[in-house]
Amino acid sequence: MDTDEFRRHGHEIVDWLADYFRDIESRAIVPAVAPGELRRALPIAAPVSGESFDVILQDFRDQIVPGITHWGHPGWFAYFRSNASPPSVLAEFLTAGLGAQCMSWATSPAATELEQVVMHWYRQLLGLPEAFTGVIQDTASTASLMAFLTARERLGEDAARMTAYWSGEAHSSIPKAARLAGIASERCRIIPVDADFAMRPEALAAAMSDDVARGLVPGMVVATVGTTSSTACDPLRALGSAAHAHGAWYHIDAAWGGSAAILPELRPLFDGVELADSFVTNPHKWMMTNFDCTAYFVRDVEALQRTFSVTPEYLRTRHDADVVNYRDWGIPLGRRFRALKLWFVLRSYGVAGLQAMIRSHIAFGQELAGWVDATPEWERLAPAPLALVCLRHVPTALAGDEPALAAHNAALLERVNASGQVFLTHTMLQGKYAIRVAIGAWRTERRNVQAVWALLRESASR
Ligand code: PLP
Repeated sequence: MDTDEFRRHGHEIVDWLADYFRDIESRAIVPAVAPGELRRALPIAAPVSGESFDVILQDFRDQIVPGITHWGHPGWFAYFRSNASPPSVLAEFLTAGLGAQCMSWATSPAATELEQVVMHWYRQLLGLPEAFTGVIQDTASTASLMAFLTARERLGEDAARMTAYWSGEAHSSIPKAARLAGIASERCRIIPVDADFAMRPEALAAAMSDDVARGLVPGMVVATVGTTSSTACDPLRALGSAAHAHGAWYHIDAAWGGSAAILPELRPLFDGVELADSFVTNPHKWMMTNFDCTAYFVRDVEALQRTFSVTPEYLRTRHDADVVNYRDWGIPLGRRFRALKLWFVLRSYGVAGLQAMIRSHIAFGQELAGWVDATPEWERLAPAPLALVCLRHVPTALAGDEPALAAHNAALLERVNASGQVFLTHTMLQGKYAIRVAIGAWRTERRNVQAVWALLRESASR
């Protein structure tokens, strides 16, 4: 592809994406495709000779797009939303074009320094302590694994007796990180939660004391702000105090909920955050930045570097003593230029724009929670502090019969999703099947929340 062709097709793709953004609401969110359909439709080997880009783009439109799930749809209420806002998409295009591999300052000075600046802005934006330094990672899963690895490294020989603690509501990336960090399941403790699904600090303290009495070494406590099932918020201060009392690393997983710290009125949820050794949040969830972009903050940068720094001769540069080399701040050597999209997003929307969006989502969530509470035969299954409402339909005839209620609500969910206009997922809360309505798409308006509530009720009445 020569430069003129690149220009022509580049314009074509931007036009296609602009139309896609404009008309996205007319598409069914979940594609009507069967497993294996695309695989069978495509050739079984790569072409020997290069093909025309016009044909490739046509196949993209005809074969790929029909099998895409439209995460950008304003009726998206599933999982936690990943927001690909236009400024972040444009930054991603530039990042790909620049092709910079940002492992060291010398391999792309502006990328490293922009990441330093943007992480500094981001720390301020979330009201995190000055003692924290941020670095961008691909995902929260990676960042939590890094926290476990750093905590283990810090323990030295005691690592063989290291124990770790989290609640049953923690994200699956936490037990996965423990496993990858070599902490045997016999040394992992699932701490009980209270009626609001938040970890109980006295149970944590008791579990750690028991372990110390058995000669084990509490090495890691993970708290969550905004659990995946219900956005429960663990009591950070009390858990942090318990972790500190035993010298354990204190990691806070705020993958979704961290974005809410941009709102001063929600800062009480983060009370005690200054006790953390590490904190992770995903701009690629609620903060308008397309996947992937995770902000990982640590207090002890030297401990981080001691864990991850390996410097062979071929990577040394003459600037090493004076600069940050982010290759020493994480697991992979190669790094994408992710700071650019976060910079574009923060500048395009501004703090006030981002606050307004998150505030509106939380208000929509409160309103929906109010509608559920006020409607007979509907039940809300958890508090809704962060724009996620967990609900279910409880027809009088099925009340008390959990298996029947689960089957009824699963069928209801399927019918609602079959409309193509909205997409919801489910979870289990204290043994009860819950439909999750997770509000967080930058295109979602009040009318979309009204629509999902209307669809749920209409489907329940069928
Ligand atoms: N932690 C929490 C609380 C989450 O909800 C999620 C994903 O939804 C994750 C971690 C994992 O995020 P990632 O996909 O960035 O690894």
